[in-house]
Amino acid sequence: LSSALTEVARNFGGKQRMTETSIQPALKSVRRALLDADVNLDVATALIDGVRRRSLGREVMKGVTAEQQFVKAMYDELLDMMGGGVVAMGDDDDDDDDGNFDDAAAGGRGKRNKMKMSTSSLPPPAATLAYRGPNEVGPSVILLAGLQGAGKTTAAGKLALYLKEREVDSYAVSGMSDDERSNTLASRLPKRNRRVLLCAADVYRPAAIEQLEILGRSIDVDVFSLGTDVDPAEIARLAVEKARAGGYDTVVVDTAGRQVVDEELMEELRRVKRAVKPDETLLVVDAMTGQAAASLTAAFDSAVGITGAILTKLDGDSRGGAAVSIRGVSGKPIKFVGVGERTQDLEPFYPDRMASRILGMGDVISLVEKASMEVSDADAARMQEKMAKAEFDFDDFMTQSRLVSSMGSMAGVAKMLPGLGNMIDNSQLRMVEKRIKRSEAMICSMTKKERANPDLLLTDRSARSRVMRITKGSGLSFEDGVAFMSEFQKMRTMISRMSKQAGIGGPDGAEA
Ligand code: GDP
Ligand code: MG
Repeated sequence: LSSALTEVARNFGGKQRMTETSIQPALKSVRRALLDADVNLDVATALIDGVRRRSLGREVMKGVTAEQQFVKAMYDELLDMMGGGVVAMGDDDDDDDDGNFDDAAAGGRGKRNKMKMSTSSLPPPAATLAYRGPNEVGPSVILLAGLQGAGKTTAAGKLALYLKEREVDSYAVSGMSDDERSNTLASRLPKRNRRVLLCAADVYRPAAIEQLEILGRSIDVDVFSLGTDVDPAEIARLAVEKARAGGYDTVVVDTAGRQVVDEELMEELRRVKRAVKPDETLLVVDAMTGQAAASLTAAFDSAVGITGAILTKLDGDSRGGAAVSIRGVSGKPIKFVGVGERTQDLEPFYPDRMASRILGMGDVISLVEKASMEVSDADAARMQEKMAKAEFDFDDFMTQSRLVSSMGSMAGVAKMLPGLGNMIDNSQLRMVEKRIKRSEAMICSMTKKERANPDLLLTDRSARSRVMRITKGSGLSFEDGVAFMSEFQKMRTMISRMSKQAGIGGPDGAEA
């Protein structure tokens, strides 16, 4: 893929727009990569069309290479295909982490009876749950369906833990430092703290009931079972009744699966559904089945009616086809993903994370890295040129810092990739971003003249009062201003020295 994209760059040359000819080879490679990843054909075609639409005729942004822009178009398109921001159950838009979603607030919004799906653009809100008050309107019910071995029983345990969990740290992206973890969106999830009852409605294998009971014990969640002789719909109904009487607020119903989709299974699910009127009917589907997962989701939806999917075994070497195709084919969102066999290995589905992971397939990510390196090369060259003319000013600083932030977001993409995550220090990255934001705020408060003549803020007699005015205008402290000026000065000196060493410009240039 990278070679095709490099070609884009070459074809692209000095041109200011991407053209059909210049992106054609890359589109072809992307298409092949998508199909290799077992993405559904129609979905792949739609993605390619979208990338073409987003790229064609676009002006190439200053400081961004054609490849970067192309990769960004792919990323955006993938994101759209998978539903944009996080899709999760719940209607709690309050992302305080003070926990305990209160019933009054929920009632006030008139939504307390429903676990509602919420989609949202970036940054994704945390996955949260509406809190249905105990003994009020009955417990929320989550019904799990799926083929045998998909991971339903495991997912039931995982969901139960997810719902009752007080500490949410285990749901942060794995591979993060503690510091990083405490800053993730996941850690801003309200404490869920629900009282969950697991219901064993897979009556065909005694082992299935035992499996759920063992799981329940391990996470300290009660399991309702009536053995193998009772009708699953009746078991589910009685579980909800017990939950209502016993003060549980959520029932997670584990059901039986088959090797293949059959009418008997669907009929049983429909009966269970009628008996308990679930708030969520989630199809548990194995990511390893690739694009077949998508048609399966569509099939279950038309036969039973589902509200979303839980995509399991994403920790395996699934190639992403399932994640990309499910929504495109069935129209149903993926709500959670299973990333391991342990009960804590469940995460809300973040389309942006998945898009990054998919872009990491093949050579794309190395391309992104290469692209950002090219940016910094170009950047350095421009700076040297500027320095040669001894006119590096705050406007240039702004341009450079924008470049650095765009590289920062590239690194953000890279950190989502398995294996790469540990190598990039996220907290450092965020600090840089924060500093850049501050600098930009200050530069915005400067006059045109000040921006073009940094000495006015550095050495001029009026420097102190000017910096004071600027920091006030940008809502920062005078100390912030002083720190920034000294940073800018250092940068200017460093660049000057570098450009002299490189023999470019400056009065001493000839010596080097
Ligand atoms: P069910 O038949 O649908 O109830 O499937 P189970 O819950 O019994 O799971 C089948 C197998 O898949 C078990 O060995 C699980 O440990 C495994 N499994 C389930 N979810 C995941 C997952 O997210 N990752 C991995 N690696 N294995 C999983
Ligand atoms: Mg099972």
